[in-house]
Amino acid sequence: MQKVDLKSMTFAELQQFVEDLGEKKFRTTQLYQWMHQKMVKEFASMTNLSAAFRDKLGEQAALNGCTMVKRQISADGTNKFLMELSDGNKVESVLMKYHHGNSVCISTQVGCRMGCRFCASTVGGLNRCLTTGEMLEQIYEVQRITGERVSNVILMGIGEPLDNYENVVRFIRMISDERGLHISQRNITLSTCGLVDGIYRVMKEDLTITLAISLHAPNDVLRREMMPVANRYSIAEILKACREYVDHTGRRVTFEYSLVDGTNDSAEHAEELAALLHGLNCHVNLIPLNPVEGRMGERSKRTKVLEFQKILESRHITATIRREMGSDIDAACGQLRGKNI
Ligand code: SAH
Repeated sequence: MQKVDLKSMTFAELQQFVEDLGEKKFRTTQLYQWMHQKMVKEFASMTNLSAAFRDKLGEQAALNGCTMVKRQISADGTNKFLMELSDGNKVESVLMKYHHGNSVCISTQVGCRMGCRFCASTVGGLNRCLTTGEMLEQIYEVQRITGERVSNVILMGIGEPLDNYENVVRFIRMISDERGLHISQRNITLSTCGLVDGIYRVMKEDLTITLAISLHAPNDVLRREMMPVANRYSIAEILKACREYVDHTGRRVTFEYSLVDGTNDSAEHAEELAALLHGLNCHVNLIPLNPVEGRMGERSKRTKVLEFQKILESRHITATIRREMGSDIDAACGQLRGKNI
């Protein structure tokens, strides 16, 4: 018999399950707390539940999770964790320490099918989507291991979050639930390569997360050279969706722009981008490319990066240069799922 994936259940679903097992309703709260606040890994540790109930749970349900199998610590304090899933697949999660708190960048899929030419995560294609429980567990495991509280979550690891829509939205609701870790949705960022249908869908979920769009080019011709997904959706369609997103949610959107030497980093590109984003409530995150073996491009020169930023700012578009963290352990943007998997 296929066991029920208990950690991916919402509170309401868990309540139904508990009642179907003939247990009192209030047991749901206890069980939910063991999984999502105390973060225990076994039914045996759930000491306020009866032995009979725990036995029943053990027969019918599984506590699928993540087990850290390797930890690397960067000179800048960034930690990269190789996580093993219950079926033996592996993903990576990254912990970054900032003065404002700890951020964890989690993976949403095993592999990725978006094919961005500069990214390591997509090299072997998509293996499968992660369950909600497996996304939650990446954060739980980081907290278990480091003993530190996670305050920010970034859906920017391996995978395309909007290509695993239901599980990702459920994850956002559960990680922000006060019966769980209660991480504010304002501290959650979802990054997408620009799946327009997904943007409209997530807009209607009434979440207060930050939406980040991986744009990387100021026109479709160039974008298609860098990202196959650009053949499906034009920049105009993406920006239209972003405008509606901003209007509907009142949240500023972020655009990510990885700077590739001699490809998308000229002054003209910056001007073109500024014209594109004019009047949109947004922020641009410039990411000097992290070179990936066998993938497209080299990193832009520092002077180019600064010049690009200056042009955007002179057009009243706020732009920051992303501090590159953990690149010495291949934990930076685009470097996940390289050597270990
Ligand atoms: N699929 C999602 C999230 C994963 S990638 C997305 O596309 O947004 C997280 C960010 O890192 C994206 O902006 C991605 O384009 C960027 N990225 C990928 N490879 C990179 C590289 N080699 N150097 C710098 N940024 C990269």
